[in-house]
Amino acid sequence: MRNCPMTLTVSQAARLTGDFRRAKGLKAGDFDGRGSGELPKLRYYARHLLELAHELGTMVEADPRLYWAHLQVEELGERLMANSKGAAAEEEALDSLADSLYVLLGEADARRMPIEEAFKEVHRSNMTKQAAGPGDPRLAKKGPGYCKPDLAAVLKRARDQACVDCGYPVDPDRLRASCCRCVDCEEREEQARFEQARAIHDIERG
Ligand SMILES: [Zn+2]
Repeated sequence: MRNCPMTLTVSQAARLTGDFRRAKGLKAGDFDGRGSGELPKLRYYARHLLELAHELGTMVEADPRLYWAHLQVEELGERLMANSKGAAAEEEALDSLADSLYVLLGEADARRMPIEEAFKEVHRSNMTKQAAGPGDPRLAKKGPGYCKPDLAAVLKRARDQACVDCGYPVDPDRLRASCCRCVDCEEREEQARFEQARAIHDIERG
């Protein structure tokens, strides 16, 4: 099993999901669509998702919580539509995957959620699931070795280490030095102090 690096690149995260899929004997799926009688059904569901996305988009003003759902459902609809075209629409599918990831990371960032730490914890837990057996392609039977992800602990760690101004994680070295603000906020404050001092200096000089 590949060790989880301290800091994950997006590619490393993707490869970890591949490790999980192979270790548990899960199917990668069939994306070329040849010989499939289900294509009209895919397009039917894709259209439904896009209609739902449109409906959610009209309600974003009334309840901003629907904003991220609107974006995510729209991307899912576009991906299903691209997948319904088979391998020819590979670029469209990639575009939708990248947009989906962007939206997911965007919501995590907007809510100051520790998405990378949470991903690692979910991967750790997933690897303890029992391998896929006959009649259980979605690993519903977790098996005796299963260990649930502890996202409460992940969240608590992140909140304990969050910058008091912006909520982003504070560098561990700074925490050790009892500083509860991130470098960016510290620099912004420094800059503001400098500009204030210069303004006072300019007034004094007339
Ligand atoms: Zn900050």
